[in-house]
Amino acid sequence: MAGAVTAIWLVLQAAIASPPALSQTNQTRPEPLTYTGLLEKIEDGDVSRLEVDSARGVAQVYLKGQPEAPQEVALFANQADNDLIIEAARSNGVELAAQSSADSNAVAWLITHALLAFLLIAGLLMILRRSANASGQAMSFGKSRARFQMEAKTGVLFDDVAGIEEAKEELQEVVTFLKKPEKFTAIGAKIPKGVLLVGPPGTGKTLLAKAIAGEAGVPFFSISGSEFVEMFVGVGASRVRDLFKKAKENAPCIIFIDEIDAVGRQRGAGIGGGNDEREQTLNQLLTEMDGFEGNTGIIIIAATNRPDVLDSALLRPGRFDRQVMVDLPGYKGRLGILQVHARNKKLTPEVSLEAIARRTPGFAGADLANMLNEAAILTARRCKEAISPLEIDDAIDRVTIGMTLAPLMDSRKKRLIAYHEIGHALLMTLLPHTDALDKVTIIPRSGGIGGFAKPIPTDEDIVLETRAQLIDRITVFLGGRAAEEEVFGYDEVTQGAQSDIQGVANYARSMVTRYGMSDLGPMALERSGGEVFLGRDLMSQAPEYSEEMATQIDRQVREIAVRCYSEARRLIRENRQLVDKLVDLLVDQEIIEGEEFRKLVAEYTTIPEKDSVPVAAKV
Ligand code: ADP
Ligand code: ZN
Ligand code: MG
Repeated sequence: MAGAVTAIWLVLQAAIASPPALSQTNQTRPEPLTYTGLLEKIEDGDVSRLEVDSARGVAQVYLKGQPEAPQEVALFANQADNDLIIEAARSNGVELAAQSSADSNAVAWLITHALLAFLLIAGLLMILRRSANASGQAMSFGKSRARFQMEAKTGVLFDDVAGIEEAKEELQEVVTFLKKPEKFTAIGAKIPKGVLLVGPPGTGKTLLAKAIAGEAGVPFFSISGSEFVEMFVGVGASRVRDLFKKAKENAPCIIFIDEIDAVGRQRGAGIGGGNDEREQTLNQLLTEMDGFEGNTGIIIIAATNRPDVLDSALLRPGRFDRQVMVDLPGYKGRLGILQVHARNKKLTPEVSLEAIARRTPGFAGADLANMLNEAAILTARRCKEAISPLEIDDAIDRVTIGMTLAPLMDSRKKRLIAYHEIGHALLMTLLPHTDALDKVTIIPRSGGIGGFAKPIPTDEDIVLETRAQLIDRITVFLGGRAAEEEVFGYDEVTQGAQSDIQGVANYARSMVTRYGMSDLGPMALERSGGEVFLGRDLMSQAPEYSEEMATQIDRQVREIAVRCYSEARRLIRENRQLVDKLVDLLVDQEIIEGEEFRKLVAEYTTIPEKDSVPVAAKV
């Protein structure tokens, strides 16, 4: 749980040339003429020509014998005062002229910048031309090469998709629509055109869409929403047109639009108003969907993890009127997915897929597939015949935390990390309402992780934490920093606790604003899932409480954090001898398993009974 190195962003601010101020001239003149001086000169007959520039409020004075070097005189703002000069000039036979108001400097500035802009655009166009089309059909981006893929046979069947039984059942019907449309059309039923798959990434939405095509034996057209969105207005729309044209030629078939939220977002929302290109693309998509009859045998399947941001026009009947949830799998689902992906892998008999499924709550199908693959790679690297629980264990760590790096040399830094992690591990063991320690290690991992202390997961697909559990969790989060400060002093604490502190903030704030677990009472002060989001109006994201309430919330959050921190420090302080001993051991062997850890702790103090039951200590 040691933190990553903070990235420091240096923002280079481009110097932007500003136009010269209009009143400023940089020509030096022999002796500045004043208004009175000019009047005198006119009356003396020294002036040959006078150019009045009323916009700038100056007059250019051409003296006799110096036609090249006019002098500039500031005029009064009031026109009536300047009439005096004009009168005098007229009666003395001075040539009078009105000058164009544009400052020559400003004009020069404008010209150079226009030229620059022109060069830039020309350069850009040239680059585009070259990359867009080497074969001479330059600039015809309206007829873009289609970006969609077509698979005649996906080769994926429903058997390859596990753990999302409800979704599969609902989509079974779509297969029938494609295979036997007569069955429905005979009784006058209209076949639905669109199905929207909704769910977090990696849960198998793409796989499911392919399986439908595979089961029905129809071609599979796919495109990602982000590929519609291009720099040029009209490109996306023409891609939509191309896609539907091809699909119609190949009907019956499936069109799969991944990440449809990239194009289908609520129109006219977000920062800076709408996006013309996206809106045109979306309009085209809507038109195409309306344009074909449901019975032509094209079914459009779209996937998103943000259904809330989609334009309501997309969800109307006749478009994506069917929504199918594809959720993170529960225990049974994970087991099913593991079974699918273990089919072609060699496992030792000790590996229990049930135990893996229990230990991986929160894993999506893609994570599980990835984890099994990592285990297979590790097994091959270790020159073993079959995947053993050891590789599974390492693969889970690798997928959840990161790749292992070379251990640190015995140094002050290593000891500091050891104290930090022992702080977490000890509190995890000494507090009653936490999950038991699985292991603590200071083998560094990719992503700037110096080490971690990991609890044994409890098999809970439904998370229902008590206040005591949340408080203990926050205290465990603070254990790392508490150990650093107790041992090395306040000046030596590190930013390694960054992510811990972030965790504290998240949990403590949720306790106050969402779970009603503070002195403020059972009040919902924030909606859950309050992401900053651009797809909807920003205004609706404003907090629903007063400034004064905000202050109170902050105070409550702080109180929780401070109380937990002093508890963490107390426990570390009172067990200092034990902490030192554990650190020595950890520095020496770099990893301490939960069982061993508890045995050592038990020699010094009593370990309280846990109120949560770990599912399985090891795979
Ligand atoms: P999504 O489109 O929802 O982001 P994918 O369908 O692309 O997820 O899933 C990626 C990979 O993860 C799949 O190719 C498959 O190997 C695996 N996978 C995900 N969900 C499942 C599942 N329910 N059953 C079997 N494999 C799955
Ligand atoms: Zn930490
Ligand atoms: Mg996908």
